[in-house]
Amino acid sequence: MTLIPKVKPPPAKAERKSWPEKVKQEVRERSGGVCEAHRIKARYGLPKSCERKAEDLDHMEPVWAHGESTTENAAYLCKDCHKVKTLIDNREAKEASRKQGYTGQAARRAKRKAAGKRPLIQSRNNLGWKPDNYVSPLSKAGRKGNRE
Ligand SMILES: [Zn+2]
Repeated sequence: MTLIPKVKPPPAKAERKSWPEKVKQEVRERSGGVCEAHRIKARYGLPKSCERKAEDLDHMEPVWAHGESTTENAAYLCKDCHKVKTLIDNREAKEASRKQGYTGQAARRAKRKAAGKRPLIQSRNNLGWKPDNYVSPLSKAGRKGNRE
């Protein structure tokens, strides 16, 4: 079971797209000012019908997952439903970015490795780690180097 969308999140934070006035108006009219939690996918666990006053416009498919600011991708949500939806979206964004190697431990390790730095954590695999340009002080070249 996977909740992770097969999309590439942008490396930086997803840019905030503001809603076009036309979309705002269309969605307000469609919703009649009542929370549209029923439009949100079932996996978010929002109530099938929420009667509260709608206050926030939400990207059903989040921006980081390439969701557009269109009427079809918009849901007019009450504060509570929006909070839940955003919480889950943020968690999934983090997970996707980690799994795709943009952030997290694997990404930090790869970055250190690319910079030729010693891994922060010693493991069986890197006990004998040396920088690429390492010259043993016991070798001929190393002894020469020490006298300079
Ligand atoms: Zn609601």
